[in-house]
Amino acid sequence: MRPLVVANWKMNGSEPMLRSLVQALGERQNEIAAEVVLALPAPFFSLARALLHSSGITWGGQNIHSLKEGAFTGEISGKMLTEMGGRWSLIGHSERRAFAAETDELVADKVLACLDMGLTPIVCLGEHLEDREQGKTIQVIDRQLQAVMSVVRPEEMKNLVFAYEPIWAIGTGQEATPEMAQAVHHHLKDKMATKGSNCPSILYGGSVKAENVSGLLAMPDIDGVLVGGASLDPEGFAALCVNAGQG
Ligand code: PEP
Repeated sequence: MRPLVVANWKMNGSEPMLRSLVQALGERQNEIAAEVVLALPAPFFSLARALLHSSGITWGGQNIHSLKEGAFTGEISGKMLTEMGGRWSLIGHSERRAFAAETDELVADKVLACLDMGLTPIVCLGEHLEDREQGKTIQVIDRQLQAVMSVVRPEEMKNLVFAYEPIWAIGTGQEATPEMAQAVHHHLKDKMATKGSNCPSILYGGSVKAENVSGLLAMPDIDGVLVGGASLDPEGFAALCVNAGQG
């Protein structure tokens, strides 16, 4: 299977930057074997639709509301994202869990909302540094996974993507070692298999760059990467995508 590389722009970027990114990816198209997805801020959806159609690159959002419509000022729904041509949405990113108080239960509701609209949710899981230091990584990951598994039927689990993102590795330049990430990914796959779930792809996220992507993707249970900061540099991100496909 081709590795999946997802760019998470967070609240960054501009229309010229999106044009530059698409151009940089286009210029190295023949060298990129990975599947590339852009998770963009909503104001760029329209341009993404125009620039990316028939490019082989798909795009999505960074969050949706759990409901299709209603009096929720400032929110966007999965229905709107789908209508614009988006195919994916990040769900439960640690920044949203922290700044928007998203609970495991709300994350699970948003996963269902994605599935209902035919969007692929990229469900983010990850532990704080204190959790890891106290030996609680698996406990935290299991709790976050269980909330999703309790609402999604086992045969539907293959329609999700998970992203293991240790919070201490996000935006810090201190990535988990391939072995550390592999151990958690293996655990997640094992857990889902034990519960009879069809296993989805699991990405690793946290300070991934062109230089470290191959080592991470060499691990048997790391199916792709979620990239924040390094996706903001068009040439650097294109190089990362090239390196991701060489394995
Ligand atoms: C992220 O926010 O999803 C992320 C992985 O960020 P960074 O690559 O900057 O650590």
